[in-house]
Amino acid sequence: MQYDVIIVGGGPGGIYAAYELSQKKPGLKVALFELGHPLEKRKCPIDGVKVKSCVKCPVCAIMSGFGGAGAFSDGKYNITNQFGGTLYEKIGARKATELMWYVDGVNMAHGGEGTKIYKAANQDIKKKCLQNGLNLLDAEVRHLGTDVNYIVLKNLYAEMKDKIDFFFDTPVQTIDAVEGGYNVVTDKGVYSCDKCIVSVGRSGSKWMENLCKKLDIPTESNRVDIGVRVELPAVVFSHLTDELYESKIVYKTQKYEDNVRTFCMNPKGIVVNENTNGIVTVNGHSFEDPSKHTENTNFALLVNKHFSEPFHDSNGYGESIARLSNMLGGGVLVQRFGDLVRGRRSTESRIEECTVVPTLAATPGDLSLVLPKRILDGIVEMIYALDKIAPGTANDDTLLYGVEVKFYNMEVGVDENLETSYPGLYVIGDGSGVTHSLSHASASGVYVARRIAGE
Ligand SMILES: Cc1cc2nc3c(=O)[nH]c(=O)nc-3n(C[C@H](O)[C@H](O)[C@H](O)COP(=O)(O)OP(=O)(O)OC[C@H]3O[C@@H](n4cnc5c(N)ncnc54)[C@H](O)[C@@H]3O)c2cc1C
Repeated sequence: MQYDVIIVGGGPGGIYAAYELSQKKPGLKVALFELGHPLEKRKCPIDGVKVKSCVKCPVCAIMSGFGGAGAFSDGKYNITNQFGGTLYEKIGARKATELMWYVDGVNMAHGGEGTKIYKAANQDIKKKCLQNGLNLLDAEVRHLGTDVNYIVLKNLYAEMKDKIDFFFDTPVQTIDAVEGGYNVVTDKGVYSCDKCIVSVGRSGSKWMENLCKKLDIPTESNRVDIGVRVELPAVVFSHLTDELYESKIVYKTQKYEDNVRTFCMNPKGIVVNENTNGIVTVNGHSFEDPSKHTENTNFALLVNKHFSEPFHDSNGYGESIARLSNMLGGGVLVQRFGDLVRGRRSTESRIEECTVVPTLAATPGDLSLVLPKRILDGIVEMIYALDKIAPGTANDDTLLYGVEVKFYNMEVGVDENLETSYPGLYVIGDGSGVTHSLSHASASGVYVARRIAGE
């Protein structure tokens, strides 16, 4: 079967590339291959009652399928160049911002209207942070919420299903460069195309690595972020979350001058398991629907680790630490902050007596047996710094879940068109290493589609 364009991966990058092609060049024959299920068939078996931890499904419903890793995410579209990726380095800051707003407009037109957009921080909050060694980053945040995010995806699919050939449950095994284009190899057959957009996200990182090796496309990998997810009473952070929803705060530790940052803040949300290549780590969600709100807010505290020569496997390092927590706890560990600083493990009874009721059933344990000292010291230092702008953060009953790992895909060698050295072979989204977020990944899809459309 011959196509003009084949897209590999049905996450935000692939979806937005498909959407934009269908708008700008409706005459093109476009196919999208996705190894996971259609949206309505995606279901994680963990229900917190019968199935409490990951049963390692062959295809993870959280990470794969229409909507990609973003489908059950909190749907926070951060419109900024300060974090979420380095797309601006490739295409320019103005263009990147313009495309992120374009994506926001499309989301609004497909079910997102009425959701709130949170603006940059007011000067008083910024000042208080700076006075305490904390740097509050600027961003505008559209919070769709897990529920509305799902509706937007459903509507986008409904609009595209007759214009694009979708192949679900169809992993692409490999891509071959052939004369005049590419052969996309699947277990259902080989499909040819003139141009190919690869958007395999974080879950496709190993696959991407193999493809780059095979085609001799240069890559670079030296970064991983490791830390914990903090859960505390929502009221402790309400002065920040009511105004900003998500505050991205960066702290430089006094001891090592390492950068520690808050990440993925979920006011009145829940803590969840995440499965990356069979390793269970922790993440968080929140819902727009007030009936699903909890009493707690959660966010990650991540320590940024950059490696230098001769070490090249930053993700392998992060995975090993996550494996340690899985080995000790059978999954994610939870510890009270008070227990951590006293050097003792948390137990079932200490967690039961805790004033913060955990929203994830994790195994009480000792994170100091899992996290390297340097990383743990950074987290403890930042909790005390946050306590100065949000008193109560360093409370004994604040819960820490571990480990949270932010894996970065290796950076694939692409030019300012997000095109590899192979003409017509584009790599976008998180799989390219250029983006790490919904808004940047989606914007990269629009950008490449417009390039193909000749804009
Ligand atoms: C629980 C969770 C919450 C998150 N919350 C937020 C948030 O609130 N805000 C935010 O900005 N970001 C969030 N993120 C990150 C965000 O989801 C990603 O940055 C975004 O989804 C990246 O989009 P993508 O299209 O590049 O990749 P993905 O969304 O990862 O999509 C890639 C797709 O490619 C498919 N694929 C992989 N290999 C192949 C293959 N060989 N053949 C066919 N298909 C393949 C995968 O199955 C997947 O569906 C969250 C992530 C998770 C896991």
